[in-house]
Amino acid sequence: MVQSPTPSSGHKLTAKPTAKRMVVSRLQHGWLNAMGVDVPWIVAQSPVGQSAEPAAPTSTATPATSAKSNATPPLPPTAPQRAPAVSKPAPTSVTAEQSPESSLEALNLVDLTLAELAQTIQSCQRCGLCQARQQAVPGEGVDKPAILIVGEAPGEQEDMQGKPFVGRSGQLLQNMMSAIGHGRDTSVFITNVVKCRPPANRNPRDDEIAACAPYLARQIELLAPQAILAMGRFAAHALLKTEAPLQQLRADTHSIDVAGVARPVVVTYHPAYLLRRPVDKRLAWEDLKRLRALVSV
Ligand code: URA
Repeated sequence: MVQSPTPSSGHKLTAKPTAKRMVVSRLQHGWLNAMGVDVPWIVAQSPVGQSAEPAAPTSTATPATSAKSNATPPLPPTAPQRAPAVSKPAPTSVTAEQSPESSLEALNLVDLTLAELAQTIQSCQRCGLCQARQQAVPGEGVDKPAILIVGEAPGEQEDMQGKPFVGRSGQLLQNMMSAIGHGRDTSVFITNVVKCRPPANRNPRDDEIAACAPYLARQIELLAPQAILAMGRFAAHALLKTEAPLQQLRADTHSIDVAGVARPVVVTYHPAYLLRRPVDKRLAWEDLKRLRALVSV
């Protein structure tokens, strides 16, 4: 499934954050703790009139193992609005490389609503993944979301329930979104590059990603998200049409062209990878802050 990126010592985000103390609200600190980001340089905001002190020691348990992380505290305050810092002037087109027979027109996707598109995906037989699936998983969330999250492919739980990110990765993803004031019920839509579970959770193949690409393109068009979060290399490579390493892609905010509209894309680690390598949650937090600055809710 999700490959572990090789940590790059020269990457700017791997620099030790010891010199700088970051102040977050108490709620955000709680969410960061639930994510497993538990580092001394992040301090919780003190009540008015008191100076900020390092937050009380917190548990390092991952969300999936911590009962506390299953609680759903209220969302943190909305992030300050900032202009998108899009570093790539020429957007990548998500439709340009499709063959004519898999264009949105050829597949009759252009006029479909989100609900109709979901039905089409449910009955799709464009690749061999349809044979072993319990059901396809089109995606879930709000219409016109602030953030569109794109993962890799459904796993066993998702295949059974028909919803994206419902397992351990999903719990971590929820904590990650809550840490920046977003949620799948309020401002987010979650989908995957591939809508059907690859057998035994193997990596999705190129032909399977290509078969599903028109669905993702139409979803982006319909959902019109303010920003897209690509989680893991399969999502990043499919959206950005590149094979560059994930660490390199994380360094920039990208832009893709969908139906003539440029949409910013932030790349981060897949939650499944972060569950295996919790120390990199602090790097993911940097990505999430950049994502948060791109959207207004
Ligand atoms: N991993 C993914 O990439 N997507 C899911 O929906 C679940 C796990």
